[in-house]
Amino acid sequence: MALWNERYEPVIGLEVHAQLLTESKAFCSCSTHFGADPNSNVCPVCLGMPGVLPVLNHQVVEFLIRVGLATHCSIAPRSIFARKNYFYPDLPKGYQISQYEEPICTNGFVTIETDDGKRKDIGLTRIHMEEDAGKSIHDQDADTLVDVNRCGVPLAEIVTEPDIRSPREAYLYLTKIRQLVRYLEICDGNMEEGSLRCDANVSVRRVGETVLGTKTEIKNLNSFRFVEKALEFEINRQIDLLESGGKVVQETLLWDAGQGVAVPMRSKEEAHDYRYFPDPDLVPVLVNADWIQQAAKALPEGPTGRRDRFVDEYMIPKYDADILTSEKSLADYFEAVVTSLRSKTVENFKLVSNWTMGDVLRVVNTDKVDVAKFPVKPEDLGEMINLIADGTISGKIAKDVFEEMLTSGQSPKAIVKRKGLVQVSDAGAIEQMIDDVLMKNKGQVESYLGGKVQVFGFLVGETMKATKGKANPKIVNELLKKKLESMKP
Ligand code: ADP
Ligand code: ZN
Ligand code: MG
Repeated sequence: MALWNERYEPVIGLEVHAQLLTESKAFCSCSTHFGADPNSNVCPVCLGMPGVLPVLNHQVVEFLIRVGLATHCSIAPRSIFARKNYFYPDLPKGYQISQYEEPICTNGFVTIETDDGKRKDIGLTRIHMEEDAGKSIHDQDADTLVDVNRCGVPLAEIVTEPDIRSPREAYLYLTKIRQLVRYLEICDGNMEEGSLRCDANVSVRRVGETVLGTKTEIKNLNSFRFVEKALEFEINRQIDLLESGGKVVQETLLWDAGQGVAVPMRSKEEAHDYRYFPDPDLVPVLVNADWIQQAAKALPEGPTGRRDRFVDEYMIPKYDADILTSEKSLADYFEAVVTSLRSKTVENFKLVSNWTMGDVLRVVNTDKVDVAKFPVKPEDLGEMINLIADGTISGKIAKDVFEEMLTSGQSPKAIVKRKGLVQVSDAGAIEQMIDDVLMKNKGQVESYLGGKVQVFGFLVGETMKATKGKANPKIVNELLKKKLESMKP
């Protein structure tokens, strides 16, 4: 590990495959629905029967323009599809339709924020369209099983420049990409279901060296943590190899998460010559300026822009804004609560932020609910915060009201009324209760008057208890202080 920081620099480039959220496949009308019965979403086109012709799904191009614009790419006015030829049981056509020499998006970048708070641009070489292959299932008692439902499902392949310098940066980049494609609503980012997949290319070089070292490529990385772990493993392996006088061999490795090692794929499997050539069945994809302009206009606000706007507009801490904009649905929820605030003050914005980050997210995470379907409607949470802000209920009582809203789905006003939770702010009523409490606690009052000031907290507590937590604590404090002062000899 020490060697790594002092004398070697890791160089990493990532290839991310994002499965696009289209209803139908890239070149036929078969459904893309995940979890359908094996081999049920198929037709002669995606099975590559003789004599059929593919027709490009317009939505695929639309999605690529969207992600290209959001990552500052140039959108090619003309791009072409190529055939990538190889043999594998889950690829009935014998080739995959992809883009090779003329991809639709080139030369973009994605900005990450490193742990020391600096922004760093990771260059994107290209983003191209391609179709997915099927799935081979090896871990059954039977022979290898094949499910070709996924054949022809559209993907965007996002390829970075070798700009990433540590496993941590790779992790941050992937997190950003996932957030971005979810914001753009082009991919659900679900790694378990394979809708976001990553291959990691890595080499090392001596610090100060400008030429790139020989890289290896690691596949089978199905979580961001695995990417980070696999890169750490491989960087150390390469450095050890070089230090002991060896040479890195360019090869493809498979990450074995169980063992925590990256092992070479059998070289036969790896010896690929894809014989790319332009697909004669598909016409070039033409994108005019109009289309790009329309897409740019429809582009949703990105996560970073929205984060910065939250800080400016609602004056909440950057920490809060980062969490609130981590998912589009959460940011939408927050803003919907804000909309229903009666008094749009900085204090109330912060209250909304606290409730959303704290109570809402807690339930979202523990119960695994979708924010968009959160049982407490944003208008209701907004109304509850209005009740706190105007002194109708205390922050403490609000916790109970929130729990009640979660289970009953009732409006906060109805709950407050039904359970008699209205905060008592009436000075006369509170004074009466204070008098009672002081009567019942003569000894404590004596010691307070005798200089034991910490008894004050006890007396506040007793008063709150006497009112079942409904007295306005601020008023209790004030009145109790006044009362005790007047009792001093
Ligand atoms: P290949 O021909 O093996 O597909 P590419 O040049 O297309 O390689 O690059 C694939 C990915 O590998 C890109 O993300 C690129 O940034 C990265 N890459 C290329 N060369 C290196 C290197 N020497 N070290 C680390 N990553 C690299
Ligand atoms: Zn089909
Ligand atoms: Mg390549």
